Amino acid sequence: MFAASKIMPVVTRFAPSPTGYLHIGGARTALFSYLYAKRHNGKYLLRIEDTDLERSTDAAVKAIFEGLDWLGIPSDIEPVFQTQRFDRYKAVIEQMLEDGTAYHCYCSREELDAMRAEQQARKEKPRYDGRWRPESGKLLPERPAGVAPVVRFKNPLQGEVVINDLIKGRIVFANEELDDLIIARGDGTPTYNFCVVVDDWDMGVTHVVRGDDHVNNTPRQINILKALGATLPEYAHVSMILGGDGQKLSKRHGALGVMEYRAMGFLPEALLNYLVRLGWSHGDQELFTREEMMTKFDFDHVSASPARFDMEKAWWVNHQYLKSVDPLLVVAEFDWHLRRIGVEPENGPALTAVIEQQRERCRSLVEMAEKSKFLFADLDGYNEKDAAKHFNADSAVLLNELRAQLEALPEWTAPALHVAVNGFAEGKGLGLGKIAQPIRVAVVGMAISPPIDQTLFLLGRNRTLARLAAAVAFVGQ
Ligand code: GLU
Repeated sequence: MFAASKIMPVVTRFAPSPTGYLHIGGARTALFSYLYAKRHNGKYLLRIEDTDLERSTDAAVKAIFEGLDWLGIPSDIEPVFQTQRFDRYKAVIEQMLEDGTAYHCYCSREELDAMRAEQQARKEKPRYDGRWRPESGKLLPERPAGVAPVVRFKNPLQGEVVINDLIKGRIVFANEELDDLIIARGDGTPTYNFCVVVDDWDMGVTHVVRGDDHVNNTPRQINILKALGATLPEYAHVSMILGGDGQKLSKRHGALGVMEYRAMGFLPEALLNYLVRLGWSHGDQELFTREEMMTKFDFDHVSASPARFDMEKAWWVNHQYLKSVDPLLVVAEFDWHLRRIGVEPENGPALTAVIEQQRERCRSLVEMAEKSKFLFADLDGYNEKDAAKHFNADSAVLLNELRAQLEALPEWTAPALHVAVNGFAEGKGLGLGKIAQPIRVAVVGMAISPPIDQTLFLLGRNRTLARLAAAVAFVGQ
């Protein structure tokens, strides 16, 4: 059989089970899958594996859509839901029973338990002993009355399954290690591995990209695919992500859900960039545009060993993005963060202008929103330490005088404000800091802000004058 990629356009898929939010490991798998398809002008599909009715929830489906949407990893078709495909699974099972690649097994739970106990007593590996497996010339047991049989796949007894994994290399499984897998339960519902196989087949998947916790499912799935006469896909099993300490990634290493990264102030593009480098490398390049990721991503340079999550580096990447991308691309996220802290972005300067002034000193959008709040909403007091240091009778006189001069400015531009404030400080024989810091505390509420001319410009004439007056009054109290 030919490797699928040689004869068909690439089709990849991401197949999450909706049992929780989209975590960063899943997001990285989706990203690798998406990038590989895009690099080869192929298609990337989303499939929701929701057959586990007890653990799957609508909220989780929504959370997965939301996470993928935020990251910008769109499926090329409407997402496929396994729960909507039961008729198809049933039909394939019927066909397999007819073809003799699957068979009914009437073993009761008690029988299977006894089988297991005997095998263990003989120090054998517990496995289904094939008692209902039809073979030519073999007499099958009498069918017990009133038992709804399960359907088992007739796994080859000899030979091996070889996977040339695109990441892990050659992996070999002996068929004798594989049981005759149950593909439908007594109530007729199909089981997990079987659904995956039928879906990958029907969806024309050429490359299965998934977490390496699924490696052991792969030989079973391959055998079923072969029995169906399907073209085999290639497999790329992605190693897991560990915390910085080498332990399994968990809450204690930071956030796990993709949307938590949004809340922490990451740009989606930056998070994608961080995730693509988690296991994949391209020389020593760290920063990639989306287009570059799409043209450069390959499995040859995905590491077979687990990657370690490094929060500091993730922040570094985020800061690089904030500093360098077109502010227009940051506006939507910045807007979201401002609203989140109760700020109405309409009540202030253009967000692009704010981003340009703030991005050098903010590595997260949470920080940027907090530090920019003063431009959109009334101050909720002065930072105590800063006020104690920079507000006094002298500075109040200065602020009052400066206020009068600024009020008389014919135009409210950053250059005009620059000249005015510098000229004022010079006229008083003071260094700029002596006047800039009290101004900052007066208009920002604390002694940190972008350059003072930019700060006043962004804040606008009315707010600046009102806040200077309020500071003078505050000191005079
Ligand atoms: N539904 C599986 C999971 O969420 C993925 C199965 C697959 O990709 O084949 O881990």
